[in-house]
Amino acid sequence: MTYWNKEIETMDPESLRKLQSEKLVKLINYVYDRSPFYRKRFEEAGIKPEDIRSIDDLTKLPFTFKKDLRDTYPTGMFCVPPKDVVRIHASSGTTGKPTVVGYTENDLDCWSESLARAMTSAGLNGDDIIQVSYGYGLFTGGLGAHYGSEKIGATTVPAGTGNSERQIMLMQDLGVTGICCTPSYFSHLIEVAANMGVDFRKDTKLRVGLFGAEPWSEELRKHIEERSGIKAYDIFGTSELSGPLFTDCEKQNGIHIWGDMFIVEVVDPKTGKQVPDGEKGELVVTTLTKEALPLIRYRVGDLTSMTHETCACGRTHPRILRLTGRTDDMTIVRGINVFPGQVEAVLLATPGVTPNFRILIDRVHELDTMTVQVELNEENFSEKMSDLFSLKSEIERKLQSILNLSAKVEFVEIGTIPRYEGKAKRIIDNRKLWMTEKDQSLSLKPDFRKSFNIIRMYIRYHCRIMSDAWLPLTGKSGSPVKAGLNARLSQFINQI
Ligand SMILES: [Zn+2]
Repeated sequence: MTYWNKEIETMDPESLRKLQSEKLVKLINYVYDRSPFYRKRFEEAGIKPEDIRSIDDLTKLPFTFKKDLRDTYPTGMFCVPPKDVVRIHASSGTTGKPTVVGYTENDLDCWSESLARAMTSAGLNGDDIIQVSYGYGLFTGGLGAHYGSEKIGATTVPAGTGNSERQIMLMQDLGVTGICCTPSYFSHLIEVAANMGVDFRKDTKLRVGLFGAEPWSEELRKHIEERSGIKAYDIFGTSELSGPLFTDCEKQNGIHIWGDMFIVEVVDPKTGKQVPDGEKGELVVTTLTKEALPLIRYRVGDLTSMTHETCACGRTHPRILRLTGRTDDMTIVRGINVFPGQVEAVLLATPGVTPNFRILIDRVHELDTMTVQVELNEENFSEKMSDLFSLKSEIERKLQSILNLSAKVEFVEIGTIPRYEGKAKRIIDNRKLWMTEKDQSLSLKPDFRKSFNIIRMYIRYHCRIMSDAWLPLTGKSGSPVKAGLNARLSQFINQI
């Protein structure tokens, strides 16, 4: 077994806990002295720095939320003067202002150290050629993976996102052995390679992929590994904590968190109480080494469970198990929590369909409806209507049993579902259109709004019927004209 920092990675759990206690006490004094935000938060909770004497006192501390970072936008929670900040990243805020994160030189070193340990645990080393196909820029994925790759001495190819055919050409021509990108983008690259007549197994040297920035399932890992012949690892991090930080090791049984840098907890999202090992809850992280923007008991929003057992690889630090979704990626349909990962798992366990899907949620007669659009696999495409119907009802049955919710399945042609270079957008929630902020600002009279929505629904409904009617006609050789029409129609449905 190869380690990047064997002494730390395999230290005995007792000594690790002691080290965490010492660092936590230092951290609490550090933020109390330097951050008016934390000082106020502690005072409100009736906590003084001397109350925190070891990691056992951790639960006395109040949580920090993403909202706190937004409320103090842009740099209100920074603990160092501007001159000590050497880099800024920001999250891709989908609503309102982004969250801004600053790094000191030491913060950047710790970030690279964390990734160097992670990449080594996934079997990468200085002989590798690593293509970084995450976005570079304010998003942390590109530069994070880039510095980790350079730290282990690998040759780094900063490909960035986009131009999939060039990505595959680079992979072939440069003899790339490792890739970092989102799992949905890699699934797309597998398709593009197939269309180019490139077989990952024979025509490239690619052997390891680190995939993250969006939740994905064990089934997608199998799918990727079977289709491309590489080993696929889960990489985890969020922009507020640094960016990509941790991966699973070659044993693929959980993501190794580096306990000398971070304390992780899993809590019940409703009560905030810690849950026992193995039980699912929300991930909470305390940073132990960050200087510019330390976070105390930060509610990450991802759902997971954790274990303190030593891994078969010999690493003793805690592991978190595969993330099953984010609390904010989740959507609620008829009172039931739905995660895109659950749908993905059903599709990947069904032969004949691809992992390309999206979930359309609507409200018809005050009732939420859920439609899952799925792309059929060309190899298994059957022209027989009866086969299509039985496949459709098989998926609907499986979805019903997993989600406890009835969902309609719609088959669409290959290429209809948009491909994403970054995070895939799986849920299209059309319910919002009923009462968007725009609608409200127009101050439409209720009667008018109602008629407006009925017209919108009517158009959408008929577009879908047309789309359904085309599908059986297109068959195996699928005329490009019909495929194009279908793609445009889907786009239109989502725009109105
Ligand atoms: Zn391990």
